[in-house]
Amino acid sequence: MSSSASTLRRITVLSGGVGGARFLQGLLHGLRSGVVAGGSADTEVTVVANTADDWWVHGLKVCPDLDTVMYTLGDGIDVERGWGRRDETWSARTELEAYGVEPTWFGLGDRDIATHLVRTQMLEAGYTLSQVAEALCRRWLTPVHGATVRLLPMSDDRVETHVAVADPDSPSGRRVIHFQEYWVRLRAAVAAEAVLVVGQEAATPAPGVLEAIGEADLVVLPPSNPVVSVGTILGVPGIRDAVRATSAPVVGLSPIVGPSHVHGMAAQMLTSIGVEVSAGAVGAHYGARSAGGVLDGWLVDERDADQLTGLDQAGIRAAAVPLMMSGDDATAAMAAAAVSLVIDPA
Ligand code: GDP
Ligand code: CA
Repeated sequence: MSSSASTLRRITVLSGGVGGARFLQGLLHGLRSGVVAGGSADTEVTVVANTADDWWVHGLKVCPDLDTVMYTLGDGIDVERGWGRRDETWSARTELEAYGVEPTWFGLGDRDIATHLVRTQMLEAGYTLSQVAEALCRRWLTPVHGATVRLLPMSDDRVETHVAVADPDSPSGRRVIHFQEYWVRLRAAVAAEAVLVVGQEAATPAPGVLEAIGEADLVVLPPSNPVVSVGTILGVPGIRDAVRATSAPVVGLSPIVGPSHVHGMAAQMLTSIGVEVSAGAVGAHYGARSAGGVLDGWLVDERDADQLTGLDQAGIRAAAVPLMMSGDDATAAMAAAAVSLVIDPA
């Protein structure tokens, strides 16, 4: 049970939206209920969130992954949907539709709009995205978690994932659209021919990100999208190197279970970068730290136990456990297994 001599003082998690947020919820539950060996209710958790899904719509800056993590950990999330505010209403969307204002396929809820208004006004007043995140988290995270949970954007710079899709009407045969259009309007139902992360090369990690990775006792890659969530975070110059260099063990949990992903679009994104859709292939794609990659350990689902030998040969310590985030207890058990995979009991 929860030990007072916590060996896990600081955990840093590189997170996308829904998958990452659900994992974090379970991790915090596990730390507080004592099922995570070496951790305690005082363990500090720093979340470095993907911001490459962000975009401007109806004059507002929308940060889907930051907000999904913030609302989930702040108990404001619509649990069924996995994103957006609970008890949401949609009057503004209906009014915008009545004006015929595009894009009509991207709905913003009324409660959620308040968050985007605060963020947009602060950005326009000259605050950075990190400062905005801190201000918004004062409402959502501080009351629930005190100072134990911090949410940092991966970068304060504008970085945007775009997706190339086939378009027979275009001279090149392709059209490049914002990630949100691919996901929300096209529902990821057409093949992604390429993923382009605009602005990434010029971006710098947000304040505190490299320190959070370097000073952590454990770094976790949750079951988030390996291409457009964790991949875009690691792609910010300096972040991959920090993960490779940290003295903390680095452990990941597979977002792929069995022959497919669980929800979302991991399969489409992996296919677009030529990685097979399997837990073992995603682990190999991240790679062993001992071989130029970012992982020391990789958890796969029980049904993917046949992939352990290959991972072991690739230099990644791997284990197979149930990886379905069906509730906080199940997810806490996943977090506990991830910790014990890479941290030997004292
Ligand atoms: P997004 O930004 O909202 O797409 O969320 P993330 O990138 O954080 O996570 C999305 C990924 O989480 C999906 O593509 C799934 O592969 C994965 N995922 C969702 N639910 C589960 C689950 O219960 N178990 C596992 N192992 N992965 C999951
Ligand atoms: Ca996302």
